[in-house]
Amino acid sequence: MQHDVIVIGGSYAGMAAALQLLRARRRVLVIDAGQRRNRFAARSHGFLGQDGADPGEIARTARAQLQAYPTLDWVEGTASAATGAKDGFSVTLADGAGHAGRRILLATGVSDQLPPVAGLAERWGRTVFHCPYCHGYELDRGRIGVIATGPMSLHQAKLLPEWGEVTFFTNEALTLDPEDRQELTRRQVTIEEMPIARISGDADVVMRDGRELAFAGLFTASRCVPASPLAAEIGCEMMETPMGIQVQTSSAKETSIPGVYACGDAARVPHSVSLAVGDGAWAGAQLHRSLVWPDD
Ligand code: FAD
Ligand code: MG
Repeated sequence: MQHDVIVIGGSYAGMAAALQLLRARRRVLVIDAGQRRNRFAARSHGFLGQDGADPGEIARTARAQLQAYPTLDWVEGTASAATGAKDGFSVTLADGAGHAGRRILLATGVSDQLPPVAGLAERWGRTVFHCPYCHGYELDRGRIGVIATGPMSLHQAKLLPEWGEVTFFTNEALTLDPEDRQELTRRQVTIEEMPIARISGDADVVMRDGRELAFAGLFTASRCVPASPLAAEIGCEMMETPMGIQVQTSSAKETSIPGVYACGDAARVPHSVSLAVGDGAWAGAQLHRSLVWPDD
């Protein structure tokens, strides 16, 4: 069967796009591998009407609502290849199954490359975060440690005093120039240049000199890379952002390959559930437009 749109990635962005298309009675296939970026977090904050909800529950509710539309097909699995061109794409799953579609939407998200600090990855989404708007409030103005990964960390260290008293660990990832030091001092940030040995307890930082500093939470600017190699493999132009790598799109969310669209974390910065949903809804409408008026 020929689908109007094959949505690869059935999380917030992909489902928001699919919803618009289904409501326009278009045939949509969603292929989803079930690896949401926020699966490490028990609560999602800042999404209107769902503040503090379980992020898995938000996704399950959305999926159940999508499945009420008769023109939806949903496949659990990983899309491993896409060939063809506008109006005649073919998407292959890792298990070998093939699906035909007139358009493709990549809503495949990003994955977070974390700094190689012992004990940090295990605490990702629990006491180690990247987004102050998502997880800052719950720290209740407690002490915050910022672990540097590069230039973005400086921005985190300067912003986070809005949520609590900040210690900035440069951890050999960054050298501070005098203006940075001055601004950090003005923001009452404590600068620690001794490297970190490991994280222990809830969010305690053990320094290489043996000191142990306790925090309510830690922040680190992860590097965001595409969660799926698909966009790059099929030749979509990619671009560097201060947060990592994303798929480049037009304002209508079309990639450099005609008929292939991209939305959500995979194709915009900054990142949040709200922004992914908004970007997805917009991509859905733009995909619909391209099906109604293919020559525009
Ligand atoms: P994702 O939710 O990452 O979904 C991508 C989907 O595509 C996944 O299901 C994946 O399995 C699938 N996929 C990828 N490749 C393929 C493939 N080849 N074939 C099939 N399927 C594929 N945001 C907030 O607003 N509030 C918060 O409190 C919050 N907390 C966060 C906590 C943590 C620890 C992290 C890391 C992020 C948090 N975020 C939060 C950000 C939020 O998770 C993302 O902005 C959001 O998930 C982006 O949605 P998306 O649909 O673009 O991508
Ligand atoms: Mg998605």
